[in-house]
This record gives sequence, C-alpha cells and structure tokens, in this order.
Amino acid sequence: MPVANERFSPQDEAILLDTIQRWTDRELKPIVKEYDHADRYPHGIVEQMKEMGLFGATISQEYGGLGLPATTYAKLVMIISSVWMSITGIFNSHLIMSLAVEKFGTDEQKAEWLPKFASGEIRGGLGLTEPDAGTDLQGIRTSAKWNGSEYVINGTKTWISNGIEGSCIALLVKTDPTAEPRYKGMSLFIAPKQAGFTVGKKMEKLGYKCIDSGELFFDNYRLSKAHLIGGVEGQGFFQATGGLELGRINVAARGVGLAEGALRLASDYAQVRKTFGKPICEHQAIQLKLGEMVTRARAARLLTLDAAEIFDRGERCDMEAGMAKFFSSEAALENSTEAMRIHGGYGYSKEYDIERFYRDSPLTCIGEGTNEMQRMIIARQYIKRHSIA
Ligand SMILES: Cc1cc2nc3c(=O)[nH]c(=O)nc-3n(C[C@H](O)[C@H](O)[C@H](O)COP(=O)(O)OP(=O)(O)OC[C@H]3O[C@@H](n4cnc5c(N)ncnc54)[C@H](O)[C@@H]3O)c2cc1C
Repeated sequence: MPVANERFSPQDEAILLDTIQRWTDRELKPIVKEYDHADRYPHGIVEQMKEMGLFGATISQEYGGLGLPATTYAKLVMIISSVWMSITGIFNSHLIMSLAVEKFGTDEQKAEWLPKFASGEIRGGLGLTEPDAGTDLQGIRTSAKWNGSEYVINGTKTWISNGIEGSCIALLVKTDPTAEPRYKGMSLFIAPKQAGFTVGKKMEKLGYKCIDSGELFFDNYRLSKAHLIGGVEGQGFFQATGGLELGRINVAARGVGLAEGALRLASDYAQVRKTFGKPICEHQAIQLKLGEMVTRARAARLLTLDAAEIFDRGERCDMEAGMAKFFSSEAALENSTEAMRIHGGYGYSKEYDIERFYRDSPLTCIGEGTNEMQRMIIARQYIKRHSIA
C-alpha cells in the first residue's frame, strides 16, 4: 500500500514542491491559455512530467515510483491546479489505476506493470463509467466471459480520462451478470490496448480541456487470467472503489488549487482596476467577496491536508476525504464565480484566465463521486461513528 514514506523528509518535500512551483511558473503559465483554447494535448509537458517522475508519484519506490505521502502529493497537485488543473488528470487517473494494481494485484502483476506505470512508459486511467451507469456503478453491463482459456470482453465505456492518449486502463466488468448482490459479480482487469479494444471520438467538454476524455469499445477483446487484478473474480467493485479515498483527496487538492488560483487572480485584478477614483479592492462590496474567498480557500486546504494526514497514518478516512472533496470542489466553484464577477466584463472575456477556472471548477463537483453522493456518504459515516444504539 503506497502510503507515507518515512524516508521522505520535510526537507525532501520542500525541495520537491519548490521544483514543482518553479516548473509551473516557467513551463505551464506561459502556454496554458493557448493549449486550453485549442484543446490541444500537451505532449511536451507529458514528457517533462515523465522526467520529473509524476507518473510514479504515489507508486512505491521498490517499483520505481517516488512513493510520495498523500500530504506531499496533495500539495503538489494544489500548486499545479492553481494554474492548470486539467493536466493533473493526466497523471492522477493513471495513479489510481496504478494504486489498484499495487494494492490488490498479485506479486507477478506488480512486478510486471508497476515499473512501466511509474516511468510513464505505459500510461492510462480508470475505466468504470458506461453510457447507462456512472454513480450506480453496479449497473455496468460490460461483460467478461471465460471461454476455457481466456476472457472475452464486450461492452462500452465512456468519459474515460486518458482513454485515447493512454495505452492501458483498469477495466471494470461483470464476470457474473446474474450475481446478487450485484457487486459480487464484478471484476477489474489490467486492459492494454490491443485487438478488440478501440477508441471512439474525443469528447467535447465545457472545460477540463487538453486531457482526452474518450469512449472505449470492447468487441470480443481477449485477456488472459494474468490480467485479472488479484487473480480472483468478484473483487472488482472493491478494487475499483478502494482507490477512491486517495482519488477524493486528489480531487479535493485540485479544488484547493482552483480556489486559491481564482482568489489570486481576483486579488491581483482588484488592486489594479479602479472605479470612482480608487482600486476596487477598497470598495467594501469587493472586500466582502475577497474575505469569503480567502476563508473558503484556507478551509479547503486544511480539510484536504487533514484527510491526507489520516490517509498517511494508514487509518480509514472516507468521511474526511469526502468532506475535503465536497467542500474544496464547492469552494473552487464559488471562488471562480466570485473572481469572475470581480473582473466585471473582462471576466467574461477569453483574454483573461479567470474564465478557464470558471469552466474547469464544476468537474471537481462531479468526479470521484458527485457531491450529492458525497454528502450522503459523510452523513452515513458520521451517524455510524456516533451511533446511539
Ligand atoms: C470530464 C470527466 C472525466 C471523467 N473521467 C472518468 C474516468 O476517467 N473514468 C470513469 O470511469 N469515469 C469518468 N467520468 C465519469 C464520472 O465519474 C461520472 O460522470 C460520475 O460518476 C457521474 O455519473 P453519471 O454521469 O452517470 O451521472 P448519474 O449517475 O446519472 O447522476 C446524475 C445525477 O443524479 C445524482 N444521483 C445519482 N444517484 C443518486 C442517488 N442515489 N441519490 C442522490 N443523487 C443521485 C448525481 O449526483 C447526479 O447529480 C468522468 C466524467 C467527466 C465529466
């Protein structure tokens, strides 16, 4: 389980985060607007991310990863997301796939796949959602039938991040469509691109540009038993959702980055834009907005690091990760909206960066479990922990 790495000291963290900050300022800031507006995949940036080890960020060092604790990883994601949120998805979805293999895979699967995942030689993501099943994951229909020598897989996945540019996904299927309860018939496979696995169109999105979101089709796609994660059928639902705590901490960190980035843009703008003879930051109405934005961004950061610290201690943190994800994503959306309003008419212009934050933020309310579900999870967990029965 790639959790806290005791060999990773606070000094190591400071050096790493400083490197990420400088890289973000030098390489990302100058090009983000152009790439975002063109919805262009950032191949050059992906090569740089490979060199920095980001595709192995949370993979254990024994498999060639950096073995970062969740706290350090979250801070890294916050820095990048404060400028260009969507590119964090290129390595994060990949790391959730990697986590499933590291946490639940056989020794042979870990030895074979994790070093290639860590180097970025093989990149991918998580293939769960289908046209008729997102939140209700147990309703998926993609099936894998054992024919005596291999699994034959048929079905369709949609919205899969890295589905087009990546070369492998963790694929959730039904190995027993009749099982009751339904989750007992689900299995997770390491699914490399090969005959029978084709990709459809790149999906057009409101925001979260540059990263590819694809439809994937499986037509008599064949996999050996060596690709079944853990080697046992029926574990897929828990394997697929087992990475969600880290996934939610990641989305929370993206929300923090967006909330802080939007705040910074608003604060900078409010100090130079003048109306009625003074900078707008001196008008009380703008100060009320900024005061709320600063507080929301800070609270989101603290909730996220709290969840990450619990995760790093190896303790259960579904409620804390849920709170962090829910609060930070809503903070991202609210701060982006308020920052846009502080920009007045220019906030509506594509010349300014704030419109990107406004388009990117809503995704954080949807991914890794919608915020509707998140609140229900938090409430149920709270009641469980404080049962009066
Ligand atoms: C840009 C983007 C990238 C994505 N990347 C990936 C990826 O890499 N891999 C992947 O597998 N999926 C991915 N997804 C899919 C994403 O996980 C789903 O969109 C999400 O889980 C919601 O599922 P859905 O869209 O089917 O909505 P639905 O499940 O149909 O939900 C619709 C609405 O109903 C609400 N709802 C549903 N059930 C309940 C309930 N029981 N109680 C209360 N409210 C409920 C939801 O909160 C939502 O508001 C991505 C989506 C987007 C937009």
